[in-house]
Order: sequence, then structure tokens, then C-alpha cells
Amino acid sequence: MAGHSQDVLIIGAGIGGLTLGLMLHRAGVPCRIYEMAPEIKPLGVGINLLPHAMKEMAALGLEDTLAARGVLTSEAAFFNRFGQLIHKEPLGRDAGYGWPQVSIHRGDLHQVLLDAFLAEAGAERLFLGWQCIGAEENGVARFRRTVSGEELAPQRGRAVVGADGIHSVIRKQLYPGEGEPIYSGINMWRGVTRWPPILNGASMIRAGWFTHAKIVIYPIRHDGDGRQLVNWVVEIATPRHERWNWALQAKVDDFIKPMLDWHFDWLDVPAFLRASDVALEYPMVDKDPLPRWSFGRVTLLGDAAHPMYPRGSNGAGQAIVDARALADSLAAAPDHPESALKAYEDARLGATANVVRTNRTTPPDIILGEVFKRTGDKPFARIDDVITRDELTAITDAYKRVAGYEKDKLRR
Ligand SMILES: Cc1cc2nc3c(=O)[nH]c(=O)nc-3n(C[C@H](O)[C@H](O)[C@H](O)COP(=O)(O)OP(=O)(O)OC[C@H]3O[C@@H](n4cnc5c(N)ncnc54)[C@H](O)[C@@H]3O)c2cc1C
Repeated sequence: MAGHSQDVLIIGAGIGGLTLGLMLHRAGVPCRIYEMAPEIKPLGVGINLLPHAMKEMAALGLEDTLAARGVLTSEAAFFNRFGQLIHKEPLGRDAGYGWPQVSIHRGDLHQVLLDAFLAEAGAERLFLGWQCIGAEENGVARFRRTVSGEELAPQRGRAVVGADGIHSVIRKQLYPGEGEPIYSGINMWRGVTRWPPILNGASMIRAGWFTHAKIVIYPIRHDGDGRQLVNWVVEIATPRHERWNWALQAKVDDFIKPMLDWHFDWLDVPAFLRASDVALEYPMVDKDPLPRWSFGRVTLLGDAAHPMYPRGSNGAGQAIVDARALADSLAAAPDHPESALKAYEDARLGATANVVRTNRTTPPDIILGEVFKRTGDKPFARIDDVITRDELTAITDAYKRVAGYEKDKLRR
């Protein structure tokens, strides 16, 4: 076994793991990150960083880089399946926040975090191709090489953080009976299309409802030729789903049928979907909140701790906010890692459990469900006769409180 070490061992160089690594390094707490992928590739499609996450990115000096790579999303717009506008509201700085909302390709976000970690902490602190196979409460983690399967010498650290995503090995070890993620009954297809700006070119659009199809659309990169890389997610209620795999390929014909007549004056949806570069399929899943994350010197962070439905643009943001809480706790009590991990859990477990539950019941897109309930599957004459402005803003404001990005709290 490698000698007793004061390093924090982070399992997983995803969004949460790299952010934690950077924050710990800045705080003077040494760490090492172990990632099972032999190389870091630009995987995934779009991801959102809401103002609470961008506040943390700004503190790491990454706001300008992320803003330049992504899109400063300035408004949320909700439509029914006939393309009629239900509600619009400003986002990010346009809504008066001190930080923007950035919509970005996950690969770009990942690369920015990786570059910063390598530049600041150094390449010798990142171990690629090391797959964690377990961790002990005394801070020892075991690994094997992803490619050959060869077992490596166990590593001892000040603490072990399972930032290893939705299929977390550390979580499975802590909760062996838990089973697979829970399927919501909604399947998702995601992709990116190069397309001229839609609405104001910085709009986060949600249209339709699951019973037919719901689509979420937002730009994630300016392409320089007057077009943008535009992320889309189609969500349809269906009993069928595959096991979650971030790389599962799909065909547009698998899911386009309910949207074939969606020719809106602001977008021809079928043409937009058919022009897609890529289509991936994932089930909408989450897991029940856990009673504990921290066991001795081992804890969980990000999707490993609280996988949630992607209905509030919050998965990456909550992992980033976890990283801040854990880095602060470890920096405040470096010689007492067990109590630092417990303090982190106290700060974040209840808050994230609330987001998981709210994403199941009342995320922002519930606006679409509420209007559907009131109009049935029909166009409306005047939205004000269906739902009041106050009701609409009450729904989105309630979500901001749960997710932790209401303006006054963030400013404080
Ligand atoms: C390939 C991929 C594509 C994604 N695409 C999208 C997307 O398009 N849109 C979106 O909203 N979200 C996407 N996500 C999820 C998103 O990154 C997370 O929901 C969110 O950012 C929280 O991040 P996280 O660090 O907790 O988990 P993740 O970002 O999922 O990172 C977990 C990391 O742990 C590594 N890992 C897993 N098991 C082990 C192990 N045993 N040993 C060592 N390392 C391990 C994984 O390879 C990964 O790098 C994707 C995640 C992955 C892994």
C-alpha cells in the first residue's frame, strides 16, 4: 500500500470531481483525482450553469472563459404544443442576478475545468484509466486499470470522495441493496443541431407536454457563420427504456412522430430535428435521497450523491455547489476529515434531497403541465384567461428557492 497520505482522493474527473479538485487546490488542501476513462473526451451535449453555479465558477476565475465558449442565456420561454406562447421571463444577468446563466456543451465545460486543474494543480495529480473498485471508511481506496483489469496498489488518503456519477461504485458499496436508478416513465432523446438563432438567440425554450411530446431547446455555442450549435431534448411518456448509458445512439425517426406537425412561426421543429448532428437516448431516472453520504472518511458528491431528473437545469450546478461546501469544510478542519465530511453532509444532503423531490413534482416545466390540464389538448384564445401571470411566476420563483438560486440569497 502507498504510504499514509494527506491527499484527498477524488473518484471521478467529471464536472463535480474536477471542480472539487480545483477548489481544494485553491484552499491549500492537496488532492488527487482518479478517473476510469483512459482519456478525457468531449462527451455529452448541452448543460446549464445557473447563477448559483456561475457564482462558484466566477470565484475560480472561469466566468469569462465559460461565457466565451457557451451562450449567455437571457430568457426562458414556455409554449404549448401548438407553438403558442404561455410565458416568458428573463434569466441570468438579464433577470438582475450578479452572475449569468451559461448554456454550454458539456465537453466545453469539462475541458475548461480540466485545463484549469492541470494548469493549477498539475498533471501529476490526475490519474486517468484508474477505475475505483471500492473504498474503506479509513480512507483507503482500491483501483484497477480500466484497460487491462490489473489491480493497483491501494491508495490511502485524508478522505475519499465518490464523485463517480450516476452509476457510482462508492454509492453501491455504501448501499449494496439499492438497485438501479428509478425510471420516471419518461424517455428522453437528446442532440445538437446547427441552426440560425431561434427567438432572441439566447432563449431557453420549453414546448409541449409529455403526453404527446415535450421539447427543450437552447443554444450552447455560437458557430461564427451566423448559426449556433443548438441543444435539444425531447421527452415522451413511454413505458419503454434502456439502461442509462451516456453514449446510447438513437435515430430521429424513433421519436419524431408526435411532432411531425409542429411547424411554428418561430421554428419548424421537424426540420430542426432532422438536421441534427447527433441523437442520443437516455431514460429520465433518479434515485431516492439517501439518509447519509458520509461514512468515516468516505463521502459522495454530485450525481453519485443525488442523481436527479434533468428538469430544472440543475445537475451540474448542484454538483458544483456540493464541491464548494465540501472544499470549505475540509479547508476549515483539515485535520478532522471525518467531522468535515459530516459538516458537508449536514450542509448539502437536505438541500439536494429537496431538489430531487421537487424535480419529480414541481420543476419549472410544470407550467406546461398546468396549462395542458386547464386547456386540454387544444389551443387557447388568450393565455390570461387560462392562467394568471402571478401563478406563472409563483411556479418559477418556488423552484428558484428550492434549487438555491433566488436572487437575494445568492447576493448575500
Ligand atoms: C459521458 C457523460 C456525458 C454526459 N452528458 C451530459 C449531457 O449531455 N447533459 C447533461 O446535462 N449532463 C450530462 N452528463 C451528466 C452531468 O455531467 C452530471 O449530471 C453533472 O454534471 C454532475 O456531475 P458529476 O461530476 O456528479 O458526474 P459526471 O459528470 O457524470 O462525472 C462522473 C465521472 O466519474 C467517472 N467514473 C465513474 N465511475 C468511476 C470509477 N469507478 N472510477 C473512476 N472514475 C469513475 C466517470 O467516467 C465520469 O468522468 C454526462 C455525464 C457523463 C459521464
